[in-house]
Amino acid sequence: MAAMEIEFTAPYDIDQVLTFSLPDKSVRGRVARLGPVLGDILQAHDYPPVIRLLLSEALVITTLMGSLIQKSSGQLTIQVQSTSGAVELLVCDFLESRVRGYVQFRDDVVLQQDRLPDFGRLFGDGRLVVTFDMAASKERYQGLVELRGSSLTQVVRQYFIQSEQIPTVLQTAIDLDGPEPTAAGMLLQYLPDGEEGRTRLDTLDSDFGWACVAQLAETTADRDDALLAEPGLRSTLRRLFPEEDTVMVHGTEMLAKGCRCSLEHYDSILSRFSKEDRREMQNEDGVILVDCAFCARQFAIQD
Ligand SMILES: [Zn+2]
Repeated sequence: MAAMEIEFTAPYDIDQVLTFSLPDKSVRGRVARLGPVLGDILQAHDYPPVIRLLLSEALVITTLMGSLIQKSSGQLTIQVQSTSGAVELLVCDFLESRVRGYVQFRDDVVLQQDRLPDFGRLFGDGRLVVTFDMAASKERYQGLVELRGSSLTQVVRQYFIQSEQIPTVLQTAIDLDGPEPTAAGMLLQYLPDGEEGRTRLDTLDSDFGWACVAQLAETTADRDDALLAEPGLRSTLRRLFPEEDTVMVHGTEMLAKGCRCSLEHYDSILSRFSKEDRREMQNEDGVILVDCAFCARQFAIQD
């Protein structure tokens, strides 16, 4: 019998976000990669190519930003609203490692392209709204930024600089042509006073250090490949920061698709309406039809 050749391959990290820091540079970071979760979300809709690309980018950004919130302490929502342009509304949210999103758009030939078109054409006049809903305090923090730049990634970077005054690098890489759609990204933030506002003693050279890290993160030639194709997210970090002596990995979170729609959920929402209001919502068969925009499912509720 011929000897069999067994090929050992490292497992491919997918639907995960990894939290890390570069302590020498006062940098905290996240790398995230979405695969089956992204496929599930896209599959529920019959989106044109440009909308698939845009939503993939938005979902990976939402994952990176949402993972900045401590688990079970709140929800992050990003919403793009525009009054002109091809995209009308884009909503994504992240709650307890679960992500979801959808897009409403106007008919436009630009949506059939393979690449994201000019930002003005896509959104016209629009803005990005970032909302943090904190569970414990029930407080809501909201930041707004104009949709200027060449990508959603750039707009969100601008949001961090304007609204939170945190120097931020955000990079995303999308591959929807492979056997499975994949979206990956990296978020780096410079926090010389530490996450909790602690004063750190080792910030003497860190402004220069941050500038170097940011420059490297933005210019690494094979960055997209490191984000999308490197099997393990830890080895992605090694490829992205080869010069760093210490890259501290704090943990990984498994990601899931976050739709919360169910008959029970809509039942409880409808029960808050008066009997008269509910009667007005019924169709001729006495059934209330409710659509979930996130997963394009329809629920028929017998009142
Ligand atoms: Zn749903």
